[in-house]
Parts: sequence; structure tokens; C-alpha cells
Amino acid sequence: MNNIDIESIVKSVIINMQSDKVSTNNTLNGVFDKMEDAIDASIEAQKVVRQLPLEFREKIIDNIRKKTIQHAEKFAELGVKETGMGRIGDKVLKHKLVAEKTPGTEDIKTVAWSGDRGLTLVEQGPFGVIGAITPSTNPSETVICNTIGMIAGGNTVVFNPHPGAIGVSNYAVNLVNEASVEVGGPNNIAVSVAKPTLETADIMFKHKNIQLLVATGGPGVVTAVLSSGRRAIGAGAGNPPVVVDETADIRKAAYDIYNGATFDNNLPCIAEKEVIVVAEVADELIYYMQEAGSYMITGDEIDRLAKTVLVNKNGKLVINRDYVGKDASYILSAIGINVDDNTRCIIFEADGDHPLVVEELMMPILGIVRVEDVDKAIDLAVSLEHGNRHSAHMHSKNVDNLTKYGQRIDTAIFVKNAPSYAALGFGGEGYCTFTIASRTGEGLTSASSFTKNRRCVMAESLCIR
Ligand code: NAD
Repeated sequence: MNNIDIESIVKSVIINMQSDKVSTNNTLNGVFDKMEDAIDASIEAQKVVRQLPLEFREKIIDNIRKKTIQHAEKFAELGVKETGMGRIGDKVLKHKLVAEKTPGTEDIKTVAWSGDRGLTLVEQGPFGVIGAITPSTNPSETVICNTIGMIAGGNTVVFNPHPGAIGVSNYAVNLVNEASVEVGGPNNIAVSVAKPTLETADIMFKHKNIQLLVATGGPGVVTAVLSSGRRAIGAGAGNPPVVVDETADIRKAAYDIYNGATFDNNLPCIAEKEVIVVAEVADELIYYMQEAGSYMITGDEIDRLAKTVLVNKNGKLVINRDYVGKDASYILSAIGINVDDNTRCIIFEADGDHPLVVEELMMPILGIVRVEDVDKAIDLAVSLEHGNRHSAHMHSKNVDNLTKYGQRIDTAIFVKNAPSYAALGFGGEGYCTFTIASRTGEGLTSASSFTKNRRCVMAESLCIR
């Protein structure tokens, strides 16, 4: 198919779409007042996208990448301002990463068998219209990452973004649509609503034309999509432990852990959330973590921190959302300790059952647990990961220890001798995603995760060997 053919298909379907009357939110492309209208617009846009050759989808994706890089600073500023979480510089890097390393159509693969009985192909086709829930912790990054992967697979996507990050999420929805329209593609490749709620999510979950649900967020939302009766991809919570054994390069381990745990103030779900260290190297690790920029608290300070960042909800300790993604200096000032912004991490020693170690805090706070040996470290790490099977990290030069831990913890991500963000292709090999489907097993999602396999058989012919 040549360019003229492609453009005429796109134009004819766009003209048909324009005759449909829906109530759009006038200021942003793809943002609707009602979820029903958003879904209708997505259904129409999908009719165009599914006919687009891969080459044309890639043209749209290229422009999304370009515009995301151009707007990276704006996204970072908007995100921090609206959610009150994270660090602008790190969010700029996250947007560049998502633009540069999220796989596009190259991820869509065909498998073929040819032989005496002909030619059989398995091709990856679109689900159609996908419903996606996005978090407040990486809001626009997830919208952009999901859109690239989903339209690479020939789908369109309806978002019900986190209400606490609606401005920046819908800014991203607008940007991906502008990117499509600018290169001659359809509007509404991604849609959203102006005021997302649990009710709008429910309309999406139950709509007969939504073929796949993708939830990125905490346990509540993942359970909700998995209970919907629809096919669903669940990218849920983690509590990644990092284990340090006596064979590690301890100074490097300390700096890597510090850098991973403080990136965007510990908002990424993959970030180091607690440290378990073999006793003989614990003092050295703590020394270097302080050298890197951590502030060590002890005794009564630890109790005050726990009372500040955890709250009692119906008899259960849960995180105080006021401190999620905040700077270490801000959190320390709340317990009467004043430091400057060069201090990016709060560390303390505790037992493995301390609530600040057990809970997924998403704050630049690291409890350090000393244990006798690597086997005890692995046992504790498995227990603190809570069976999420999400992410785990280790610093060691002993291949047997690394192998043992990797097998026992059984997580979607296992980073060795590097900061956790190496798992997202930042200083490590491989592609980027902000939807890590630990619960449902896809692992790091990409375009092919959003496709279904279709077998295409030609019997007795087309084998030309
Ligand atoms: P959250 O769970 O508070 O919210 C996520 C989204 O789900 C929001 O849009 C929220 O409105 C919606 N939601 C919550 N309960 C729902 C329900 N019952 N039905 C429909 N929608 C519902 O998450 P958050 O605080 O923004 O993000 C942090 C959590 O997400 C952490 O636990 C983190 O580990 C996890 N996370 C996981 C990944 C991953 O790829 N696995 C990525 C980012 C964040």
C-alpha cells in the first residue's frame, strides 16, 4: 500500500467520525465529559487504527516520541505541581526514557511454519478498544507508555486516570492525539474523561466494547479489574527488597541503592524499599550510604518518623499519603530535623518486622535490617516482598547466591549490582515500560502484550521450498 492509499483510508474514516455527535471537553483532544462518549469516540478511532499499516502507526508513534521529549519539562513540572510528589529533574528523565525506549511496532512479531502441508502463520492482532487505569505516581509516563504500546498493536485506549493526577494525565492524552493528527492520523487514539471517578471506571469495566482491561496501580484497582469478568492485565504493588551480601563491592552497592531509592523520591514501584544486609558488611554499607547523602536516624527519631508517615486506619497501619513522594528534607523537617536538599534519603536500622520496613512507603526512606548470613537475608526478603512477585534487587559477586535469591523470590524484575532503575532500561539493557504486570505474569508489558494471537493457515500451498 502506498502513502496515497493510506491517507485516503484515514481521511474517509475521519470524515465519517466527524458526523458523530459526542460531548467533548473543548480544550483538550480526546478528553470527554462522559465516559460513554469517550468510549464511543475510541471505538470509531479504532476502526481507523486497525486499518493503518504498521508503517503509518510507526509514523504516529515517532511523533509521540518527539513531542514527549519536547514537552518533558512541562510534564515534569505539571506532575510535581499537581500531585505534590516526586522531583522535577527525575521526572524529565522518566519522560525522555519513556519516549526513547518504549517499544513500538517492532515488538509485533509473526511466527511461521512452512512445510509439506503448506504455510501457517501466527500473527499478533489488536484486541480493539482497551480500558486502562493509571496511577498518580507515574501518571503521564504511563499514559504515554500505554498509548505507544497499545496503538502499535492496532488498538485504541480509553483511560480512567488517577483523579489526583488528572491534569497531567489529560495533558498527555491531548499530546498523543495532537501527535497523531499532525502526521495525518486520527484523533482520539487515546481518550479520557475530565473527571474520572470509581463510577466512570465501572462504566469502562462493564462496557461491552472494551475487550481488554489494563490496570496500573495498587492492590485495590488490580483486584477490581481481575474481578471484572473481562480479560485483564494487572500491574500491581511491590515492596522491592535489596539484599547485600559480604561479597559485594560495598561502596558501589551503597551508591547504587541510594541512587535507585531516591530516584523521583522513591515513587517508581520497582525502587528499593528496604535493605537487608549481611552483618559483617553492615557498618561499611551504612557508612557509604551516609557518604552518598543519606541521613541516619536512631531511637526515638525512628518512632517519630513511624508516627508521622504511617497512620492507623481501622486498626491497620497504612501510609500517610501526605508524605508519599516527598523530599527527604521535607519528611525530616516534620520530625524536627533540618537538613538541606543534598540529603535525599533517610536511613535507619530496624528489625525485619518494623512497620516502616514491612509497608510499601513510596518515600525516600530505607530501613536497613542486619542479618547473620545470606540465607537469612533471602528468607527475610521473600517474606517482605509479600508474594507480589514484582521486583527484587541484590548486590553480590557470588553467582550461587544471586541464583538462589532469583529463584526463591521469583519476581518479574531482578536487578543485580545496579540501581533498580536499570530494570527500565535506564543504565541497563532492554526496553522501558511503566506497566509491570507482576500479578498476571506478562512482566514488563510492551506492544505484544496488548495483542492476541491469530493463526492463519494455507494448506497444501505457498510453501515454495
Ligand atoms: P492507586 O491504587 O491509589 O490508584 C490507581 C488507580 O486506580 C487510580 O486511578 C484510582 O482512582 C483507581 N482505583 C483504585 N481503586 C479502584 C477500584 N476499586 N476500581 C476502579 N479504580 C480504582 O495507586 P497510586 O497510589 O496512584 O499508585 C501507587 C501504587 O501503584 C503502588 O502500590 C505502586 O506499587 C503501584 N504501581 C504499580 C506499577 C506497576 O507497573 N506494577 C506501576 C506504578 C504504580
